[in-house]
Amino acid sequence: MRATLGLDLGGTKIAAGVLTDDGLKGYFERPTPQTGDGDAVARAIAEAGREAVRQSGLAVAVAGVGTPGPLDFAEGVVRFAPNIPGLVDYPLRERLEDWLGMRVILENDANAAALAEHHFGAAQGAKHSLYVTVSTGIGGGVIINGRVHRGAYGQGGEVGHLTVVPGGPLCGCGRQGCLEAVASGRALERDASYAYGEPLSAEALFVRFHDGEAKAVSLVEGAARHIGVALASLQKVLDPEVIVLGGGVVLGGGEDFVAAIRRAYEEHLRGWKAAPIRTARLGRSVGVIGAALAAEYC
Ligand SMILES: [Zn+2]
Repeated sequence: MRATLGLDLGGTKIAAGVLTDDGLKGYFERPTPQTGDGDAVARAIAEAGREAVRQSGLAVAVAGVGTPGPLDFAEGVVRFAPNIPGLVDYPLRERLEDWLGMRVILENDANAAALAEHHFGAAQGAKHSLYVTVSTGIGGGVIINGRVHRGAYGQGGEVGHLTVVPGGPLCGCGRQGCLEAVASGRALERDASYAYGEPLSAEALFVRFHDGEAKAVSLVEGAARHIGVALASLQKVLDPEVIVLGGGVVLGGGEDFVAAIRRAYEEHLRGWKAAPIRTARLGRSVGVIGAALAAEYC
């Protein structure tokens, strides 16, 4: 029977579970240490993993870890992890292999989520799919023949950093006008706070959007348009069978937001083949399932 440990490292919590043919067994969560000490984070991941394995009652020989930010896949090193102090050029794979006593595979968290939606979620049954998550930032994962396309330099699928407005707002990556800098939750909060002259959260903006308030509609539809145009470009390059949209902003924006993305996408694909755009299906366990699958499909 399949038994793969999935470990999902997030800015606030670490989640662990054992993926079996009957779904997740022994799901366990704990807070992410905020001390700025990489070893403390790695130890917390190892403890969560051991607890999940114990609860599952299964023998587990391999673990996948989903981590935010760029990785050195060959070396098993986290280059840096946004929102998790202490993980800079950190040899996470080696530490976890020592502390867990099993083989460990690292994967970018958006790639892991893409794998999970591909095999068990909204893109189930497809050969090729594209996953885009819109939350505080924008991430993505490209799945070709059931596997993650990492690319030659480990930056395949970085949908959030497509340049969509050259010379536009500054992005967290240091460049200007990335999709993330104009259409993420953080970008919406920045633009809404400017437009309303007071700090406004993405959640509060979506309440006004759903009420049909003109300023909010224009801001949210503007972000949706950028995402839709980017997806149309990606369709022509990658030609996925299905596009899956996940993340807090997609949840908050709901069907109206997705419909606006779809309109812009289809408008920019006229004369080309469009793929169905679906919302993610797996919810909070997506990270753990994806991390386990990353170990199986590495
Ligand atoms: Zn960027």
